[in-house]
Amino acid sequence: MSVNQQAHTGPPYGQPQPGYQGFQQPAYGGQSLPGAPQSQYGAYNGPVPGYQQPVPPQGSLRAPPTSGAPPPASGASHPSGHVAYSQFEHGDVQNGIPASAAPMQRPPASQPFLPGSAPTPVSQISTFQQYGPPPGSVQQLRNHMAGMTIGSTAASAPPPAGLGYASVPPVSGSVSAAGSGLYTPYSASQGAPPPSVSQPLPVAQPPFPGQTMPTQRLPAQLPGFTPPPPSTGVGPSSYPPTTGAPRPPAMPGPPLPGQTLAGPPSSQPNHVSSPPPPSTMAGLHPGPPMSGLHGPPPPTHPPQPGYQMQQNGSFGQMRGPQPNYGGAYPGAPNYGSPPGPPPPPKRLDPDSIPSPIQVIEDDRNNRGSEPFVTGVRGQVPPLVTTNFLVKDQGNASPRYIRCTSYNIPCTSDMAKQSQVPLAAVIKPLATLPPEETLPYLVDHGESGPVRCNRCKAYMCPFMQFIEGGRRFQCCFCSCVTEVPPHYFQHLDHTGKRVDFYDRPELSLGSYEFLATVDYCKNNKFPSPPAFIFMIDVSYNAVKSGLVRLICEELKSLLDYLPREGNMEESAIRVGFVTYNKVLHFYNVKSSLAQPQMMVVSDVADMFVPLLDGFLVNVNESRTVIASLLDQIPEMFADTRETETVFAPVIQAGLEALKAAECAGKLFIFHTSLPIAEAPGKLKNRDDRKLINTDKEKTLFQPQTSFYNNLAKDCVAQGCCVDLFLFPNQYLDVATLGVVPYQTGGSIYKYAYFQLETDQYRFLNDLRRDVQKEVGFDAVMRVRTSTGIRATDFFGAFYMSNTTDVEMAGLDCDKTITVEFKHDDKLSEDSGALLQCALLYTSCAGQRRLRIHNLSLNCCTQLADLYRNCETDTLINYLAKYAYRGVLSSPVKTVRDALINQCAQILACYRKNCASPSSAGQLILPECMKLLPVYLNCVLKSDVLQPGPEVTTDDRAYIRQLVTSMDVAETNVFFYPRLLPLTKADVDSDSLPAAIRNSEERLSKGDIYLLENGLNIFVWVGVNVQQSLIQNLFGVSSFSQISNALSTLPVLENPFSKKVRSVVDMLQGQRSRYMKLIIVKQEDKLEMLFKHFLVEDKSLSGGASYVDFLCHMHKEIRQLLS
Ligand SMILES: [Zn+2]
Repeated sequence: MSVNQQAHTGPPYGQPQPGYQGFQQPAYGGQSLPGAPQSQYGAYNGPVPGYQQPVPPQGSLRAPPTSGAPPPASGASHPSGHVAYSQFEHGDVQNGIPASAAPMQRPPASQPFLPGSAPTPVSQISTFQQYGPPPGSVQQLRNHMAGMTIGSTAASAPPPAGLGYASVPPVSGSVSAAGSGLYTPYSASQGAPPPSVSQPLPVAQPPFPGQTMPTQRLPAQLPGFTPPPPSTGVGPSSYPPTTGAPRPPAMPGPPLPGQTLAGPPSSQPNHVSSPPPPSTMAGLHPGPPMSGLHGPPPPTHPPQPGYQMQQNGSFGQMRGPQPNYGGAYPGAPNYGSPPGPPPPPKRLDPDSIPSPIQVIEDDRNNRGSEPFVTGVRGQVPPLVTTNFLVKDQGNASPRYIRCTSYNIPCTSDMAKQSQVPLAAVIKPLATLPPEETLPYLVDHGESGPVRCNRCKAYMCPFMQFIEGGRRFQCCFCSCVTEVPPHYFQHLDHTGKRVDFYDRPELSLGSYEFLATVDYCKNNKFPSPPAFIFMIDVSYNAVKSGLVRLICEELKSLLDYLPREGNMEESAIRVGFVTYNKVLHFYNVKSSLAQPQMMVVSDVADMFVPLLDGFLVNVNESRTVIASLLDQIPEMFADTRETETVFAPVIQAGLEALKAAECAGKLFIFHTSLPIAEAPGKLKNRDDRKLINTDKEKTLFQPQTSFYNNLAKDCVAQGCCVDLFLFPNQYLDVATLGVVPYQTGGSIYKYAYFQLETDQYRFLNDLRRDVQKEVGFDAVMRVRTSTGIRATDFFGAFYMSNTTDVEMAGLDCDKTITVEFKHDDKLSEDSGALLQCALLYTSCAGQRRLRIHNLSLNCCTQLADLYRNCETDTLINYLAKYAYRGVLSSPVKTVRDALINQCAQILACYRKNCASPSSAGQLILPECMKLLPVYLNCVLKSDVLQPGPEVTTDDRAYIRQLVTSMDVAETNVFFYPRLLPLTKADVDSDSLPAAIRNSEERLSKGDIYLLENGLNIFVWVGVNVQQSLIQNLFGVSSFSQISNALSTLPVLENPFSKKVRSVVDMLQGQRSRYMKLIIVKQEDKLEMLFKHFLVEDKSLSGGASYVDFLCHMHKEIRQLLS
C-alpha cells in the first residue's frame, strides 16, 4: 500500500527528495547532453525497425505508412478520457465566458491524401527544386514589393533601434511621415505636445543642480500617515517593518478539514491626509477646468505635526509641482479635457504617499528570511518581489497559486459590497527553485487516482476519513465515498490515516498522479509529442540572414529537446517545413543519404505529402537533418518571392500531427502579412485613426474567424503553436496570434529584426522556448468547495464548455487566472477550498494529473477581507480583465470601469473598516495601499492609453502577452524596476536598492537601469563622471556613447563586471530575453525611456501618481457622500 509500489514512482516518500527524477525541470543552459542513441523510439507510430532499408527516392508520392495504427474514430464529441475527467459538473448553471453550445468535435481521422489535391512530385535532393518563380522580371519583383509596402518606402529601412515591442514602423499614412525616425514623432493631434527632442526637458528638481526649484512649501497641507498602532502579530502587511518579525508558525502537518485557524493579525490602515472637498477648492482656488479630475486643492487644515512622521520612516516634505508635469492632466485626451491652466502651486509630496519601493523593501526584510510554510489555511504569502523558500505542508505553493484575497466574504452580498474580485492566478507547471521539492508522482496502478464519487475531486489533504477509514467525506461536495479496498488504511486516535505522511496526496498541497488509460484520448496511451520547425523562406527572411541563423541554431539546439528526468535522450520527434507562398516538406529519414523535398503548391486544401520520414528521432537522422539545415539557406538564397501564406502552414503542421497520432508544437518563424492567395489570407486593415473611437476594439479583434476555427482544430489534436514574428511593418498580430493564443502557445516579436543587434535576443528566446518544460494536450479543471464556483477564466487557452480549460500545450511560464463567484453562503469554520487538476501529456508521452490544493479562510467582517488581500494579484486580475474588455468595449469605458471598481473597493473599506476621520483624509487598507499607484500604471499602459510611438501590432502583442503573465511578471511590467547602477556595491552580489519610477529621482551624475520584463534600459546622465563612462562603455566621453549598442562591452574592470552581472541576473529572472537599450539623457530616445517612469505624467496623457491619487480620493468621496 505504498506509493512506491510501481516502478514509476519516486523514492520513498517522507523525506524530501530534491533529486527526485520523476519530473525533470528544464535545464536551461545547462549541460544536458544529447547522449548516445541507446534507446530508440522507432516504434512510436512510425516505421517499425525493419523499415530501414533505403528506399530509393521516387518520383511520386509514397503511400502512407502501413505500420501506423488505424486512424482514430471520427465524430466522437469527446474522447472517453475527457468524459471520465469531466463528466461531473459542479453545477448546471455556469456564468463563465460564453462558450459555443456545441460540444467540441474531435477532428475526423486524418486523411493525408485528399481527393482532388494533386500531389506534387517528389524530387530528390540532388535535383532540389530551385524554388520560386523562375527569377521573375524586375518589374514583377517590384510589384511584389509594392504589395508588401505600405505607405512609404521607408518600410524596408529598419531604424537603428527600437523598443522590444514598441518599434517604429511606418504604419499608416497619418503617422508615417517621418519613417526614418526611431519612432514616430509625436504629432500635434496626439494630446500633450511634447517638448522638442532637441531641447532637453526642463528639469526642476533638486537632484539636478543648476535648475530652479519650486520654492512653495505648504506645511499646512502636509500629507502623511498617522503613526501606525502597534503591530499585534505577523502578516504580510504588518507594520512597522522591523526586521525579525515573528514568523508564521510552522505546522507539523496540514490542517484537518474544518480546522479553524486564526486569521492573520490586524494591520493598520493608512491615513493620508488629503485635500479638502472639491467644492471648497472651487471656491478658493480656480483649479483647472477639468471635467473629471482635479488637482489637489490648497490646504485648509492647520499643520498637524503628528502627521509629519512618515509611515516609511521618512519625513513628509512638501514639494512643488513635478517636473514637466505641473498641470493636472493638461491635455489628457482620455478625460476629454482641454489643456489646463498653469499647475496649481501646491501638491502632495511624492515622498508622503505610499511607495512601492518601501512596501517591497519592508516585505523583503520581514518575510524573506524564513521559509513560507503552507500548513496554515488562508495565509497570505510574501510578495512576489521577496525571495523566499516554500515548504509544502498541505497547501499549494504561491508559485503555483496566488489569490487576490486569502479570506473570502461568507456571502455574495458582502463580496458585492466590497467589489474585491475573488480570483486565483494559477501557474500549474511553474518552475521551482532548486532548493524546493518537485511534486511527487503517485501511481495507484490500474485503478487510478482515488476520487469523490460525486464531484470527482481528487484525493487531497482535506478529505476526511470516517468509519474507521472505510469511507471518506468529500471536502468539496460533502458526498461520502467508499475507500477502495487497495487504498484502505487504519486511522489513528485523531482520525488521521496512519499512512498520512507516506502519501503525498494526503499531506501535500501539490502532487501528481500517473493517469490511467481512462484519461487518454480514445482510450489509448499517447505517443510522445513532436516538434515541427516551420521556416518562412521569403525574400525578407532570407535577406536579413534569419533563415541561415535559424538553421545554424537548430543544428545544436535539437540536442536539447526536453527530456523526462531519467531518460538519456528526448522522446520528442522533429520535422521540418519551409514556406513562402507554397510549402516545402522534407523527408529526413535516417536511411536516406540526402534529405528530400516535397513541394505542395496547392495551399487551398493542405495535406502532408509524406508520412514516413517526416517526423524523426534526432539521433537517428542526425546526418540527414544536418545536411538539410546546411542546404536550406543555400536553396533559397536567390529567392525573389516576397509573399507568404500563414494558415496553410499551421494546417500542414496540424495534419502532420494528426497523421502521426500525437500532440506537439509548431515553431513558426514568420515575417510578413500573409497576403498570398490562400485560406486565412489577410489584408492590411491597420488604422490608427480608430484610436479613442468606438471602433478601436476592432484593432484587437481578428479580421476573420478562420483562425478561431483553426485554433479549435489544433486544440483538439494537441497542436500547440509558438510564433516568432520578424515584421518590418504591420502584420496583424491580432489575427496571426489567434492560434498561438488559443492553443496555449507563445508569441515573440522582433520588429525590424537585424542580425547584428537582435540575434542574441532571438536565439536566447528560441533556446529557452524549445527547452522549457511543457505539457501537451492539457485540460485544466478547478473545483471548489460548496458556496463558490469558478466562473471566469483568463489566459491562453480554448474552452469548449464553461468549466474545462483546454490547452494544446501548457508550458512552465503560462498562467491561467480564474475568477470565483458565490453561489451559496460560506462558513467561517470550514473555509473555502480550491483544487486545480491539470491533465496533460509529459514530454515523454506519459499521461499525468497534476493536482494543486489551496484552502482559504472565510469571513463575516469586511475588515478581515481587507486585511488579507494581495494587491499584486489583484492588479494581475484587473489588468487581464481590462485587456479582455477592450475586445468588446471602447477603451475609455474599460478605463472608467477600472477606476470605478477600485474606488468602490477603497470606499467600502473607508466606510466599513476605517476609524472615523475627516473626509479630507484618504485612508487606504494597509495591504492595498499600492492599489492606486499600480492601477494608474495599468490605465497608462500601451493597451489602454497608447502613446503615439506604439503600433497597433504592439498593442495586440502586449494584450496577449499580459493575459498569460504571472503575478511577478505583471508586477514588473506595470511598475518597472529602476536601479541606480552607480550606487551598486561592486564587491557584493546584491542588486542596488531600487528607486521610484520618477524623473525627479534621477540624478544627472548617475547611471540607471530600468527593466520591465521586456526591455532593459540603461540611462546615462549628462554629468556622469568620465571614468565611469570609460569603465562601462569603453569610450572617453558621454557624446561617444553609442545608443546602437545591444549589449554592454566586456571590459575588465569592477564596474563593468558588476553592471553586466546585474544585467545577467535580471535576464535570468525573466521568461524572455530582454532587449537592452542605451539611453543618453537629453537624447531623443529618452522619450521612450520616460514612458516607463510610471509615477510621472505620461506624454500620452496618463496621470502622474500624485494626480491620480487625488483623483481616486475624489472618486471615493463621491461614493461616500
Ligand atoms: Zn465531492
